Amino acid sequence: YQRIVLAARPRGEVKPSDFRLETQDVPAIADGQVLVRNHYLSLDPYMRGRMSEAKSYAAPQALNETMIGGTAGQVVASRHPKFAVGDFVVGVLGWTEVAVTDGCMLRKVDTSHIPLSAYLGTVGMPGMAAWYGLNQIMQPKAGETIVVTAASGAVGSVVGQLGKLRGCRVVGVAGGPEKCAYVVDELGFDACVDYKAGQLLADLAAATPNGIDAIFENVGGPILDAALPRTNAFGRIALCGLIAGYNGSDMSIKNFRFLLTSRLTLRGFIVTEHMEYWPQGLSELGLLVAGGKLRYRESIAAGLAAAPQAFIGLLHGKNFGKQLVKLI
Ligand code: NDP
Repeated sequence: YQRIVLAARPRGEVKPSDFRLETQDVPAIADGQVLVRNHYLSLDPYMRGRMSEAKSYAAPQALNETMIGGTAGQVVASRHPKFAVGDFVVGVLGWTEVAVTDGCMLRKVDTSHIPLSAYLGTVGMPGMAAWYGLNQIMQPKAGETIVVTAASGAVGSVVGQLGKLRGCRVVGVAGGPEKCAYVVDELGFDACVDYKAGQLLADLAAATPNGIDAIFENVGGPILDAALPRTNAFGRIALCGLIAGYNGSDMSIKNFRFLLTSRLTLRGFIVTEHMEYWPQGLSELGLLVAGGKLRYRESIAAGLAAAPQAFIGLLHGKNFGKQLVKLI
């Protein structure tokens, strides 16, 4: 089988040569182990942080080891009491076609009403990030205006739709007319500002006539800077990601003083540190997806070898919706 390992730690932009494709023999399983064949790999922005050695909330990915990452697949052999051959499972098995696991962090999923791939997006970690940031940090009331950056993506798409279900005015920020049209027409946001159109301040002002009560921040840098002056008193910012800076771009904020003048609460969070909310959140998200009330879109790269380029693209907005790699 094939896997991809981290070959070098990128400086600045990630390059294809930072990864290496390897071929290995399929290992035998021992008592208590499961052999899983991955159908989908989840590519996520946080992986850029793990590739680096800089201090962060999680230990760096080891060199020459399988790239970490969420996976969805099927059990092909089992000597584990909780998993049977044929079970669909999500786990954190990394960029590999098959993997042996002791079942820790492996979860059986029901694909009868929800497609397997959705468990890596809307009904998985990104969906939970949206759910947590909205419900626990932003806590928007009906009628309030919320702004969501990287609005067409895995996390942002869920935030906005949950905000609409709560009766908020929801304004997205996304790159390009196609993504913005999708955010409004398909996801049902009230407006979407194209930050690449060259008039971010004016467009954001026009889309938020009553100011901004809460921000779900996925991007940081100039976009967050533009939103701060529009915040209302006692606004909340759920700081989920700072993707604009992951490759080393300048992330300085000029409008920091609005944290004081608008008496804002800003809280960063890492969704995997709040596992106690996952059962409730995932069941709500699952019901919404199964009921057709929560829509999503996927960018699917074909085959393991396509993973590095798809990941590099994700950090540049080449994806349109949840970025996956389909293995079979
Ligand atoms: P997305 O599906 O949203 O894909 C990333 C998107 O980010 C791109 O499509 C692009 O959209 C946007 N983007 C990339 N570079 C820039 C840039 N320089 N300036 C502005 N936008 C940019 O990814 P996810 O939904 O998986 O993740 C979104 C954010 O949430 C990330 O910051 C991620 O790190 C964070 N996250 C945090 C979690 C937590 O626990 N704190 C958990 C999960 C995700 P566009 O073309 O519109 O610019």
